[in-house]
This record gives sequence, structure tokens and C-alpha cells, in this order.
Amino acid sequence: MIQTLTARWIFPVDGPPLERGTIAIDGERIVAVEPQGTRTADVDLGNVAILPGLVNAHTHLDLSGMRGKCPPTSEFTNWLRAVIRHRRGQTSAQVMEDIRAGLAESLKCGTTLLGDIAVQGLSWTVLSQSSIRAIVFFEVIGLTRERAYDADQAWISWRESHAGVLNCRPGVSPHAPYSVRMSLFSACGRSANYHQLPIAVHLAETTDELDLLQAHQGPLVAFLQELGALDFDGLTPNVDAVIALCDPFARTPLLLAHANYWEPPSEPSPYHNVIYCPRTHAAFGHPPHPFREFLARGVRVALGTDSLASNPELDVLAEARFVHEKYPDVPGAIVLRMATLSGAEALGWADETGSLTPGKSADLVVLPLANRESADPHSLILESNLPVSSVMFRGQWTRQA
Ligand SMILES: [Zn+2]
Repeated sequence: MIQTLTARWIFPVDGPPLERGTIAIDGERIVAVEPQGTRTADVDLGNVAILPGLVNAHTHLDLSGMRGKCPPTSEFTNWLRAVIRHRRGQTSAQVMEDIRAGLAESLKCGTTLLGDIAVQGLSWTVLSQSSIRAIVFFEVIGLTRERAYDADQAWISWRESHAGVLNCRPGVSPHAPYSVRMSLFSACGRSANYHQLPIAVHLAETTDELDLLQAHQGPLVAFLQELGALDFDGLTPNVDAVIALCDPFARTPLLLAHANYWEPPSEPSPYHNVIYCPRTHAAFGHPPHPFREFLARGVRVALGTDSLASNPELDVLAEARFVHEKYPDVPGAIVLRMATLSGAEALGWADETGSLTPGKSADLVVLPLANRESADPHSLILESNLPVSSVMFRGQWTRQA
């Protein structure tokens, strides 16, 4: 049975907003998105916006117990030490509890697609049984020869036992250039390419990272020494070499988290994506994020929150609103795209979700609007603090006001 909804505004994202438009849903699929007057609606949701389900392209649900415990500072290595202390003090039952809490918050905020970096891939069981789509990126860490070997073996065995299901797919996340051996990047790249899986890497996040790679200097040297994990011979020479190792054939979906200090090539690959985590980025006190330059050069940019160790919330809409406030020169349509369709494209799931498009899954959120007019309807959703009130996933209301 087809149900047709109308609202004050519908934002398909792959086309202009439709005032009093309609969206028709048959089972779990969108069958039509049309301007006012084309089709009679069964349900009028009133003064709200209907948006595609939100996409959080970079988070770590397993760190959800860290909210407010170690606020980020410009001393990146001190923050890393706090994260490691936290991880070492946790039982696996606590980790699972944190994953569930992070998922609950993500769902409440209207997230219908997540890119989750997961130690030992632990979030798979929870995410694959929830009303959300997710790529679970198995996190791989190992700079010394021994640790790199063990990490690669663990990844291979996890991958072999985790084939994709309807709403959950595997990926791999070689953590960062300061924690992953060159040969391990290469092993992950070959394996991801062979099995057509996405890769997520924290890249060019700090100047400490560049100092370590280029000059074998800086605060990360002492940090790695403390962990017994320093091996200069294992380091990749620079961040572009990391990209080349992860994607030797330039056709693996690659998600570069942060890229704060990255200089993209003149002809960026359509498979390579920058994931900008706005409030996390701001909390570490970096210079302004170069996402506008990236967009101008044709690099796809999607939004993420990163974890609750560096962000107060797992709310992609709040990230979009933060970007809009800080960079009012960026059109609202672009900001909304970064929070939806660009994330779905980056995660390789845009054929199914990320926009309100006939044929795609009916993954959408309902957002109440203020009683005011605006020349640009995007400002009604971005210049507001009203939260998502209802969420539909695969044609079913999973939360309803
Ligand atoms: Zn991260």
C-alpha cells in the first residue's frame, strides 16, 4: 500500500527543496517525490521538514563512555594517552554497553547510516540487529613488525567471519600514519581492493603527525616510545604515500578522517572522501578546516562527529548547524548534502540511501520548523535548535512524535 506524506518543506537533497511537496512510499521504497499539486497526500505532517536520514560518516561508538572525561586540547598526545587509559580500564561488557548507548543517541538524532570505527569490530553484533545501516570498520593498529602482523591476522579472520548483511557491511580502518606500519597499510589496501570494501584512515590530523612522518620528530616520538610501539623503519614517508598504499588501484572507497593538514592532488579521485568532524575539529584548536578549498577542488566532503571523547554529542544535524553558523558563505544546500548524500556516497551506499529519490530506501527524518518565513528554506533547518522528532527507516517509523 502506498502512503503519501506532505509537509511544509521536503528536502530531497538531490534536487531543490519542495514547498508543500509530497513523498510517496510503497513498502520500504520511495516511489515518488513530487511538487505540490501533483499527488494528494494521505498525511499532512504540518510545519516540519522531511529530510533524508542523516549520515554520520565517522564515529567510534565504543568510546561513548568518554563524554566530557578528557576534553580535547591542543596537546593531541595527552588526549591520546587519556583515550588509551580509558580503553585499558574497560571490560568488554562496558564496551558493549557504550556501543549501545552511542547507537541509541545516534538513532535519537536521526542517523540512519553510520560509519563506525570499531576496535575488534565489536559493534557489528549490535548494529547489524538495529534499525540503522552501518559500515563497521574493523580497526587495525600496529607500527612495529610484530604488532602489524598480529593486526593483519586479526583483520583477516574477522573479515572472513563477517560477510555483509542487508543493513551492515564490513570495512577496515588502519588507524593512522603514526600507528600503522607501511606494510600494514599495504595489506589493508590490497585486501579492501580485492573484496571491494571501504577503508577509513585518520589522516593528516595534526602537525605532530607530519613532524613524525617527515622528520621523525615531535611529541609522537615520546608517545610511541612509552607504548613500546616506536619503529621509525615502519613509518610511511608522508600522507600521500598512505593514500597510495591504501588504494593501489585508485578505486577503493577511501574515507580520510580529518585531513586537517592535507594538500589534495590537482585531480582528486572520486573514490576518495574527506570526513570533516566540525565540533571535534574545533575542540582541538586547529586552524580553520580547509573543507571549502576541498569542495572547490572537487574533493567530496562528508560530515562526521568522531567519538564522544572529542565531541559533546553524536548529532550530525548539530554538526551541520555548527558549520552553517561558522561558515555562512557555504550554501545551506551544500551543508545539508555533506550531512546526508555525500556521507552515503563516501560510505558506498548512495544507491540505497542519502537522498529522497524514487527507488531508494525510505530512510528519512522529520524535523519541526519554527513559525517564521525565510527566503532560503535551508536556513529554517540550519538556523534552529529544534531536534528531529520522527525517524523512518526502510519505510517503517522507528521513532514517531
Ligand atoms: Zn576518529
